[in-house]
Amino acid sequence: MTFEHKSFDVIIIGGAIMGSAVAWFLSANQGFTGSVLVVERDLTYSTAATALSVSGIRHQYSNAINVKISLYGTDFIRNFQSNLGDDADVPPVSFEERGYMFLSTADKAHILRENQAVQAGCGAATVLMTPGQIAQKFPFYNLDDIELGSFNGSGEGWFDGYGMMQSFQRMARTGGVAYIADEVVGIERQGNQVTGVRLKSGETVGCGVLVNAAGTRAGIVAALAGIDLPIVPRKRNVFVFGCREKLGQPLPLTIDPSGVYCRSEGDIYITGRPPEIDEDADFDDFDVDYAQFEQDIWPVLANRIPAFEAIKMIRGWVGHYDYNVFDQNAIIGAHPEVENFMFANGFSGHGLQQAPAVGRGLAELITYGEYRELDLSELSYDRILANEPFIEKAII
Ligand SMILES: Cc1cc2nc3c(=O)[nH]c(=O)nc-3n(C[C@H](O)[C@H](O)[C@H](O)COP(=O)(O)OP(=O)(O)OC[C@H]3O[C@@H](n4cnc5c(N)ncnc54)[C@H](O)[C@@H]3O)c2cc1C
Repeated sequence: MTFEHKSFDVIIIGGAIMGSAVAWFLSANQGFTGSVLVVERDLTYSTAATALSVSGIRHQYSNAINVKISLYGTDFIRNFQSNLGDDADVPPVSFEERGYMFLSTADKAHILRENQAVQAGCGAATVLMTPGQIAQKFPFYNLDDIELGSFNGSGEGWFDGYGMMQSFQRMARTGGVAYIADEVVGIERQGNQVTGVRLKSGETVGCGVLVNAAGTRAGIVAALAGIDLPIVPRKRNVFVFGCREKLGQPLPLTIDPSGVYCRSEGDIYITGRPPEIDEDADFDDFDVDYAQFEQDIWPVLANRIPAFEAIKMIRGWVGHYDYNVFDQNAIIGAHPEVENFMFANGFSGHGLQQAPAVGRGLAELITYGEYRELDLSELSYDRILANEPFIEKAII
């Protein structure tokens, strides 16, 4: 492809949920008048985390900023179509506000209590529930070993994250953003500025600002500019099953004390858990480990929800987390030294819900040089240089 312009004000590397959220928020921002190019190496998105996600949103975090990012996400998703201008080409994102239920044994119950206080302080509707209260509302759980639950049925649930990405893309294009199928294989740098990208097709394109939205490949992209970014791909199996016995109501996204999660998806169920040994994955390894379901997940499910003793496996898939090995949280904003190189990386399993707030935040940073709606600076790259991990206790 040849360009009319050999230079863009903003180049975004990666066009999935993060890249397209930044692109759309820029195109929709009255204060931004520049040109934007999104470079995407695979426009089918078949292996992007965005396409292989479980696509949930929760407010149940231990850090206020993560709670606030998701509260913004909920508001944005609830009003998705009107936020995107009620365009006829923007379908609903089918938000199912069924809630998340964290279950805890006695030794960890204090963590739920501490987290709930943080969440309530931010305006989230999380409530703590005794086993009796849980049994009354959700009679299908076995609660023998459970001391406490925390549940939020208002604003937590799951939605069509892939559809959200497609609408961001469609409306960003309508707003003048250019998308090309190509791969960034080099980054040009002059001192503390990035000045352009080299594409696999052989072209070099100049930029004023460069955004790294390369998902699991974000570490590779950062290295092209001589910057260390602790992001690697980590495999996550997801399993889909049916159960003849009805629970009588949708299953909230339930997090068992073991780490197994499970939720309804229409009339069937989705489940998974982090692997025992969490190794860096090969970028091309999408083989499903069905033994994990048989050995590590089903026994836990059958114990927690006795109706799940008799279930039928339907299928499984693998997605890769864009895993931040430093502290499993997002790295957002400008590099402290190379200030026109910006990150939207390392979401480690909560990127879809964070995309509206991060897209908006980066668009503000690029346009105004500062965050306006929500200050995301706690999640900046600076903490890596300072070797100060951002500890979040509620990682799934
Ligand atoms: C199994 C699973 C379950 C999940 N569950 C949830 C959940 O419940 N809730 C939630 O919020 N999040 C969840 N996530 C996380 C979420 O899906 C991701 O954090 C999010 O999709 C990341 O989006 P992204 O755009 O940054 O990356 P990706 O979707 O990985 O996209 C990155 C894009 O960059 C492109 N790219 C890479 N390198 C280059 C290059 N050099 N040149 C050009 N293009 C390039 C890639 O082709 C890709 O399309 C889950 C993830 C997985 C895998």
